[in-house]
Amino acid sequence: MFKALLLDQVDNVTRVSIEDIDDIQLASGNVVVDIDYSSLNYKDGLAITGKGKIIRNFPMVPGIDFSGRVAESSDSRFKTGDSVVLTGWGVGETHWGGMAEKACVNADWLVPLPDNLDAKKTMMIGTAGLTAMLCVDVLIEAGVAPEQGEILVTGASGGVGSVAVTLLAQLGYQVVVLSGRSEENRALLTRLGASRIIDRSAFEEPAKPLEKQCWAGAVDTVGSHVLAKLLAQMQYGGAVSACGLAGGFDLPTTVMPFILRGVKLLGVDSVMCPIQKRQKAWTRLSELLPDSFYQQACREIELKDVPAYAEAITQGKVTGRVVIKL
Ligand code: NDP
Repeated sequence: MFKALLLDQVDNVTRVSIEDIDDIQLASGNVVVDIDYSSLNYKDGLAITGKGKIIRNFPMVPGIDFSGRVAESSDSRFKTGDSVVLTGWGVGETHWGGMAEKACVNADWLVPLPDNLDAKKTMMIGTAGLTAMLCVDVLIEAGVAPEQGEILVTGASGGVGSVAVTLLAQLGYQVVVLSGRSEENRALLTRLGASRIIDRSAFEEPAKPLEKQCWAGAVDTVGSHVLAKLLAQMQYGGAVSACGLAGGFDLPTTVMPFILRGVKLLGVDSVMCPIQKRQKAWTRLSELLPDSFYQQACREIELKDVPAYAEAITQGKVTGRVVIKL
């Protein structure tokens, strides 16, 4: 038997409970993992509260990522005791996920932990951190260099945003953040490496087709009119990596930034990202994130606390990363 957070749906309402589940009910796969930590992401919040149509087959164990140790494997790449991490691939959406003491998954989805990361630190990074690393790498590949000017990070207090701020600062970029948060959270963003903070209200007025050129690059986790505004403010030849929709999935923009300033809008997806790219990103994360990130931007909760935190993350009230101890 193992403990799991279970989601069910009754009359279109999502119900959450903690259940003891028999091992024979584990999902299909060739590796069984004893899970040490999962993490709470925006998408988990939408799934658990039922605010987003993330899950279509119930009952479902949520949790789009986890870290732990291999318990059984019929795949030659993994043996009992190996430390592994899993993010994405529809786990916690279509396949039972990480908010449980055990999971059974496909070996192709697992990444061995880099030597200098343990299970807890790995989930402090989690899907959000992996996505932030991919966003930063996309900017670097597009030729955005520290001497070209400031980089804007939107949704900066969130999971993806806070890791992106930390990584960019570590790599020597001047990081400006857009945030709607209180002074306390702003102090955290400064400690993580932000050189300047812009209040979200400054981006409320609809974007003109082109505005004053401010940013050499940007990481956007918000979408909608915030992404439209920052596109209008990009420097000539600048690049934006877009990964999120915390403010909405629309994009009320024009072609002007693209055809008159050569701005590049680069989409980032971590869910189906190829395995080699993931391995490289995990290694870079393990090398780049300073100890201060793990001390300042993360908190640990238990399964019983998840519903309240899920509600909070969908309301934009969670700062940094939240890990769940199994
Ligand atoms: P969080 O909820 O942790 O962070 C989102 C942040 O966005 C909030 O902290 C807040 O920051 C800001 N925000 C929230 N609501 C609004 C709003 N209405 N308008 C403007 N800003 C807002 O989420 P995550 O960091 O986990 O994820 C961020 C986004 O990235 C989500 O949309 C998520 O689905 C997406 N994502 C995409 C992935 C991919 O593979 N493409 C993978 C992981 C996440 P502040 O208060 O500082 O402004």
